[in-house]
Amino acid sequence: MSLPKLVDGDPGGWWRAGSGRLMDLLYPRLCPGCEDPLAADLFPALCEPCRFRLHPLEAPFCEVCGEKFHGVLHGAVNCWNCQGRTLAFDFARSGYHAHELVRDLIHRLKYGREIALSRLLGQLLLRNWEDRRIERHRDWILVPVPLHPGRERQRQFNQSDELCRVVAAETGLQRWPALRRIRATTAQASLDQESRLENLKGAFALARHPEIRERIEGKRILLIDDVFTTGATTHECAKVLKAQGNASMVAVITVARAGTPPLG
Ligand SMILES: [Zn+2]
Ligand SMILES: [Zn+2]
Repeated sequence: MSLPKLVDGDPGGWWRAGSGRLMDLLYPRLCPGCEDPLAADLFPALCEPCRFRLHPLEAPFCEVCGEKFHGVLHGAVNCWNCQGRTLAFDFARSGYHAHELVRDLIHRLKYGREIALSRLLGQLLLRNWEDRRIERHRDWILVPVPLHPGRERQRQFNQSDELCRVVAAETGLQRWPALRRIRATTAQASLDQESRLENLKGAFALARHPEIRERIEGKRILLIDDVFTTGATTHECAKVLKAQGNASMVAVITVARAGTPPLG
């Protein structure tokens, strides 16, 4: 496995690092999974028993949308999720099943506003660098899936952008919020696959920035989101990045994948 070189989120300072250690002594860090005290410098920042509660999404999975397949494969996965669909992204990959602890952490970040969890979830996103298709390029531009401004004001942050910042700090890759959501949409969770696509048509556009095209034209984009469900959102985003922004490639990475659950 070749993870990107990990650097501290704030490489500026020995002073800050020192005072961080002092803070750890005064206020021991707690595991976000079980609230037991946590040894310093664990990566990802979870205690050992809680790490066993993560459900990594392992091969075999669909090479297009990342859907898990249980069993032995003879040839490519014939995927129920992307069969008969033309998806605008090149491929999508998720690090974990959206199950138990991971699902709970994402839920707490988004709806419980536990923004500090974005550090841990951003670290979990780095598992996607185990994929050769991601690991082999060093020139990705990180782009978050945008929230509608109304939703973002309500939540006070965009979880995808928070994850993007962590990945940018850990990998040294450039983060560029290249998209905006121009239409509020019905919550996707209440819709089936076909209605999800319909619901999102025309919901995204390129960000209003004079240099936007120069920044993404001919570039490889890593589109970042918390959870991948059917791929309707990331498909719409990738369509805009390619058709309006002339991106040469769009790959999607998410912390977790809804869909086929893990065994057991
Ligand atoms: Zn724990
Ligand atoms: Zn698929």
